[in-house]
Amino acid sequence: MIMLNVLQSYYEYAGDNRVLDLMSKYFRWELTIPDEDFLLPFWQNQRASDNLASIYWLYNRTGEKFLLEVAEKVHRNTANWSETVASWHNVNIAQCFRGPAIFYQQSKDTNHLLATHRNYKDVWGTYGQVPGGMFGSDENCRPGYVGPRQAIETCGSVEFMLSCEMLLKVTGNPLWADRCETVAFNTFPPSMTPDLKALHYLTAPNMTLCDSRSKSPGLQNGGPMLLFDPHSHRCCQHNSAHGWPYYAEHLWLATPDNGLAAVLYAPSQVTAKVGNGTEVTITENTRYPFEEKIKLTIKTAKPVRFPIYLRVPGWCEKPELMINGKTTSVKDRPRSYIMIDRKWNNSDKVNLTLPMNITLTKWTKNKDSVSVNRGALTYSLKIGEKYVRASGTDKWPAWEIHPTTDWNYGLILKDTPSSSFEVVPRSWPDDNQPFEATAAPIELRAKAKKIPQWQLDHLGLVGKLQPSPVKSDEPVETVTLIPMGCARLRISAFPTIGTGPDAHKWKESPKLLPTTASHCWGADTVTALSDKLLPENSNDQSIPRFTWWPRRGTTEWVQYDFPQPREVSRADIYWFDDTGSGGCRTPASWRFLYKEAEQFKEVRNPTVYGTEKDKFNIVKFDAVKTTALRIEAQLQQNFSAGILEWQIASEK
Ligand SMILES: [Zn+2]
Repeated sequence: MIMLNVLQSYYEYAGDNRVLDLMSKYFRWELTIPDEDFLLPFWQNQRASDNLASIYWLYNRTGEKFLLEVAEKVHRNTANWSETVASWHNVNIAQCFRGPAIFYQQSKDTNHLLATHRNYKDVWGTYGQVPGGMFGSDENCRPGYVGPRQAIETCGSVEFMLSCEMLLKVTGNPLWADRCETVAFNTFPPSMTPDLKALHYLTAPNMTLCDSRSKSPGLQNGGPMLLFDPHSHRCCQHNSAHGWPYYAEHLWLATPDNGLAAVLYAPSQVTAKVGNGTEVTITENTRYPFEEKIKLTIKTAKPVRFPIYLRVPGWCEKPELMINGKTTSVKDRPRSYIMIDRKWNNSDKVNLTLPMNITLTKWTKNKDSVSVNRGALTYSLKIGEKYVRASGTDKWPAWEIHPTTDWNYGLILKDTPSSSFEVVPRSWPDDNQPFEATAAPIELRAKAKKIPQWQLDHLGLVGKLQPSPVKSDEPVETVTLIPMGCARLRISAFPTIGTGPDAHKWKESPKLLPTTASHCWGADTVTALSDKLLPENSNDQSIPRFTWWPRRGTTEWVQYDFPQPREVSRADIYWFDDTGSGGCRTPASWRFLYKEAEQFKEVRNPTVYGTEKDKFNIVKFDAVKTTALRIEAQLQQNFSAGILEWQIASEK
């Protein structure tokens, strides 16, 4: 299925008819597979609308009727994205939410078209309430993990861009061009180093340290997912390569009235047959999205009449148009197309200006944080970036990126967005790579105050947002914002600073107790025990947990190591138990041990060592002064065990 995409690109380049023959035979073979054996087991079933698109690609070239029969069969056997979000895996979503709209080309059933919009709304409505155009799904979407520090896989970004490009072709709706550009300019570029040699697996709108340490379970995926590495990010290092080439292929589209549409803007040249079949070449000069001007020059051997469509992005209120130096009035509104239908002569020139105003997006579902936009670009706090060599080879190095400047700022907003920010144009980089922090062709200046309590958490992830506006007694500072796509380290969803009675004090994060264990599952963490995130029940999957998984039936331990001797006489344990979905149960039995002269001894006169679910099990015992308190648990036969929270106290 994937190779078909490669062959299609090859055919479009070389016109080699063997591609059409091969694809025709392949689809005839698909027709022979019984439904019950077709598109198994999981990923194929999820992502088969890719296959559907290849079938229609071939049908548009050969018109073979049996292809529509195969297409119907593929749709029939694909996961049901027509009625529901069939998987919460980020790449499945980015790739498959469009599936019903692809089939709409054949079914002509508007419900299929609407299903794609509904899928988008269902995902982005909860997980995409952040700048950058993507959604939080650092492998899968997880309830409760919806803020701007949640990340998207690089595969997710490129597949979503391609989905938008395909939907643009199916529907003509410029909404999909807006959404494509948002990701292409803001989220995709910083997933790689500026030299495009290394990339990381996960990119988030707020991300202030890209080191090798695992960020799980704050991010779902364990391991060095933020490290910029040419070698270790499996799918992404291959998939990312289709991001820009497919984008370039979709800058210009043919229109049903034998014209051309500029749907995505970039410096480019298109040669096409238009009007009555005359070949023309249009050259597009622009530094969009960093500049407002787009200049087109038409080259034609003889005058020819055909329409040119120019997309007006959703953010552009008043586009300005000049044809051969003469201002032409434009009535078209944001998110539409300007259509110029005229007889074109050689060297005709069209100048389109898309004025960019500063706008703010308020993320009411994410603590009333704000993001700052100008045109298609979102702006992030400029943070000093220090590249630290981690691994790889000298030719293909892997990098951590550490911050060298503070990032914990809230913005001070004035009455209007335009009065809150100063736009500072800078020179264009000599190497034509604008997506780099020090090369950003535009900067914004803003007023801000530090929020000292806002820090990295124990995993090295930027602390979760708290409600805005935020009270801060720190001095007012001028900060610099750069395009999000230039910032490998960034804050893109900002808290705002307030002074009124509605301003909130930022709560300091809890101090975690040093914790060790006989074992902890890679995706879980010992820090869950003292993180003060309290569960709703024993199967609460929305907060971090500690488990001994996959050890079963064994005797295990976990302990708090106190920096200073501490008196303890009571401890409260909230057991994790995922009956119905996993292999953890409350333990068969357990007890408290304390450290005395390098020996562990059981506490004296304990009350019952409870194993009740959905509540804290409180145990009191004779007070001990110790440097370590240990839980020793005998796991049930065939089951593991875990703990969601462990509080300790001294009962006087
Ligand atoms: Zn990937």
